[in-house]
Amino acid sequence: MQSLRDVLKKAQDSGVAVGHFNISDLVLLKAVFGAAQEVNVPVLVGLSEGEREFAGTGPIAAYVRKLREESGFPIFLNADHTHSLGKALEAAKAGFDSIVFDLSALPLEENVRQTKQAVEALKAINPAMLVEGEIGDIGSGSEIHETSPDLSKGLSTPEEAKQFVESTGVDILAPAVGNMHGMLQSMVRGETKKHLEIERIARIKSQTGTFMTLHGGSGTDDEDLRKAIAAGINIVHINTELRVAWRHGLEQGLAKHPDEVAPYKILPAAVDAVKQVVSSRLRLFGSEQSIGKGN
Ligand SMILES: [Zn+2]
Repeated sequence: MQSLRDVLKKAQDSGVAVGHFNISDLVLLKAVFGAAQEVNVPVLVGLSEGEREFAGTGPIAAYVRKLREESGFPIFLNADHTHSLGKALEAAKAGFDSIVFDLSALPLEENVRQTKQAVEALKAINPAMLVEGEIGDIGSGSEIHETSPDLSKGLSTPEEAKQFVESTGVDILAPAVGNMHGMLQSMVRGETKKHLEIERIARIKSQTGTFMTLHGGSGTDDEDLRKAIAAGINIVHINTELRVAWRHGLEQGLAKHPDEVAPYKILPAAVDAVKQVVSSRLRLFGSEQSIGKGN
């Protein structure tokens, strides 16, 4: 079985990106895993601190590891947006493959100092674990927002990105490049799209040479996503689009079976709705080409 680092390296060499999808229950996990198997590309599932609290850090890690072992399929587990060393260590001990250690709300110097400490502590538990650090401001919450926050002052510069990567030793960088967590109502309705600063992505990539993640990918213009991947993005996070599909699918499942009480008869509608979104994104990130599951 290839490692997550191998998968990212291969994706980078092929000019494609690995899809990262947030889960908090079996419906979402089944949808993401099913879609990845159908499209036949490696996949990352992630859980934020709140999502881990709901699913259980240890149990979900065991579940995903078992899925991977039984299927031989490259599905990896990421501890998304972790804001304390304690929670980070908990995820590392549970066997997560990667972690987003997110102190981007702190001043850069403090972010650097604490992220460097976290990298050392996490690698001491599992040297193969990939650590992602975050700089800049991309807003918070994979939810439907009323108004668009002004994130223009929090954009990452190539200089600070280089300093951050070199000083901390992170494996992956999450920059602020016009991306934003969550979606506006107009994005959910498909009337507006997020746009990315492609040139900034390319400059940060050339300064750092590191793997890069795009957070807040939901509701982003498809062409911008293709260009961002070509400019150096290796992982794209999608959460809000899945949550919207999950809710619609669940409502459809309940409406279709008004007298049903068996969850496994109602929930497949939610699985199918999420799976459609995941498949569409995986095909886009992989530019319609499979990067294979390897061994
Ligand atoms: Zn994120």
